[in-house]
This record gives sequence, structure tokens and C-alpha cells, in this order.
Amino acid sequence: MDRLIDNLKAKELQRLLEESNRIVLTCHVRPDGDAIGSTLGLWHLLRHMGKDPYVIVPDKPPVSLSFLPNFKEIAIFTSHPDYCRKTVENADLIICCDFNVPQRQDSLAPLIQEARCKKVLIDHHEEPGHFTDLEISYPKMSSTCELVFRLIAAMGMYEDINQDCATCLLTGIITDTRNFSVNIKNPDIYEILMRLLEKDVDKEKIVKNALNTRSLNSLKLEAYAISKKLEIFPEHRGSLITLSADELKKFDYERGDTEGLVNRPLEVRGMIYSIFMREDQDCIKVSARSCDEFPVSEICKTLYGGGGHIQAAGGEFHGSLEECREILIKNMSKFDKYLKT
Ligand code: 5GP
Ligand code: MN
Repeated sequence: MDRLIDNLKAKELQRLLEESNRIVLTCHVRPDGDAIGSTLGLWHLLRHMGKDPYVIVPDKPPVSLSFLPNFKEIAIFTSHPDYCRKTVENADLIICCDFNVPQRQDSLAPLIQEARCKKVLIDHHEEPGHFTDLEISYPKMSSTCELVFRLIAAMGMYEDINQDCATCLLTGIITDTRNFSVNIKNPDIYEILMRLLEKDVDKEKIVKNALNTRSLNSLKLEAYAISKKLEIFPEHRGSLITLSADELKKFDYERGDTEGLVNRPLEVRGMIYSIFMREDQDCIKVSARSCDEFPVSEICKTLYGGGGHIQAAGGEFHGSLEECREILIKNMSKFDKYLKT
């Protein structure tokens, strides 16, 4: 395995962990498998080290992750703001996982930013925002969980990874790579998989729970979206699905129900990118995926003030769903230059 980790950074992280006791682990809004896997995975490691760790997330994680060991330890800021506030104020160290700029934490951002203790960033997004004392950012990595694994190994602490920690870390790798089907250029990922399986992790259980379990309503919503709402733009090799709040309500939408939907149009032969727009409570949530190195992050960045990775990105739009859709359609031709001939 390539030693990609800067040893000085690993040493500095180790020193901060050793001199801290109360350690807050936090992540981005609408947390996914990598955000929860990396924070809860570190929680297990720190508990094993005899520390006093806390996972604090901006809002509710999806139920598909509730199988993770000690999922109930996760404190949700929107549900328990006072508890979260006290915990952050009393922290010796805050570790920010799986996001690159404070805004990705929504309403939790001010609390984390104003905290006086030292902060560490552990992340794999482009353009880290320089808001922590120690910045560990590796955009080439498949997931923050891969990075956490490599850091633990670089600190010489592989032995301290127990089955629960390994389960969380493998979950983030599996969700961010869609079970080893994207972001897997570096063969090291299979050695990391092997090292995690050696900890008696049940990979089948992770794949079943985190990727392949849903409600009947969610399945029907996907069928509806594909049969009635999918628009194909052959000249741009792109597609769009929009779902309004009313449509979501008809299928008793719950958070996570449209997870994976944005990937489906990429199954169409010749399709290079796919955009999904969902009318959320306070914004239109834009989600984008691509293949062939087409940079959907550019679309999300330029049109919706978002970002992410080349082949998986997102953003938020403040306005109507129809306006959001029109902006995309009007600007699609600007991104044709990224299509490979
Ligand atoms: P998803 O489509 O699963 O919500 O997000 C895919 C990726 O896009 C995430 O890993 C995240 O990096 C990025 N992303 C999603 N939403 C936003 C957003 O609102 N702003 C930024 N900067 N990145 C986002
Ligand atoms: Mn991630």
C-alpha cells in the first residue's frame, strides 16, 4: 500500500488526540454513510483509547445507517441544541469529518466555528476552507473513511481498530464507492478492504443495510420519478429528474428515500451525467452524478453555489423548483466542452 499520508500530520493528530479527553466529532448536514462512518468510526477508536468522545451532527442521519454500532450515541443538533451546545463548549478538541467549508454544517456551523478549542479537519473534498488548526485533506481518496483508516494506520494504531470501528469505516467506503463501483482507481482500496475484513466486519450486512434496503414507498417513488419525471437531453448527454414537495408527499417521503435515484439515469447507454432536484423544506436540493470524468462539480458550483467531487456533487438553490430546472436547461450547453468526443 502506498504511504500517502504526510507523517508530520499523522504525528500532530496523534499528539492532539493524546493531550485531549473530551473530543467532539462532527460532519456535514444531511449526513451520509461516509459522514456517519467516519465520525462514529473515530468515536469507537477514541472510546477504545479510553477517551470521552461525542458525535454531534447538524441534522438527522438516515435510518439506513441505524444498524451501525452505537448509532444511538449520535447527538442531533436540530433535535437537542442545548445538549450539543454544552458538549461543544466543554470540548478539548473538535474533529471535522467529510466536509471542506463551515457552511456545509448549516445551522451547526456558528457553534463549531466559535468554539475555542483546537480543531482538526479530516476530509476528501477539493478546496479545503482553512478553518482548522490542523488540516488533513486528501481529495484523491475515495472517502473520508479511507482517509481515517490510513491515518489510524500511519499513527501505528491498526491494532486499536475493533470490529465496531471497522464496521463504521467500511460503511463509509462502501457508500462513497457504491460498493466498490466508483472512485476505485487506487488499488490500495482493496488492501484496506482486506484489513477491515480481518476485523470480522460483516460486509454483506453493510451492503444490504446501507445500500440495498428501502421502504416500499421509496421504491414506488423511484419508479414514478423514472417513468414520469425523467428528462433526457441527448445533445448534452445529460438527464434531469425533478420532484416537487407535493410529489414527495404522495409517496410519504422520508429522508433518504431518494438516495441512489440520481445514479439510475446513468444506466442509460450513452448517458454521461445525471441531475436530480428535490424540493426540500428550505431549498431545492440539487444532486449530480457522472461518469467519464465529466465534472458535475462544475455544474453544481457555477449554477448552484455548491461543489463536491468530479463525478458526485451537489448544491442548494433558493427559489422555485421550476426556476432551478430552467437555470440548468438554459446553461447545459456551457458544459458540453467537458464531454469527451
Ligand atoms: P449528494 O448528491 O449525495 O447529496 O452529494 C454528493 C456529494 O456532493 C457529497 O459528497 C458532497 O461532497 C457534495 N455536495 C452535496 N451537496 C452539496 C452542497 O450543497 N454544497 C457543496 N459544496 N457540496 C455538496
Ligand atoms: Mn465523503
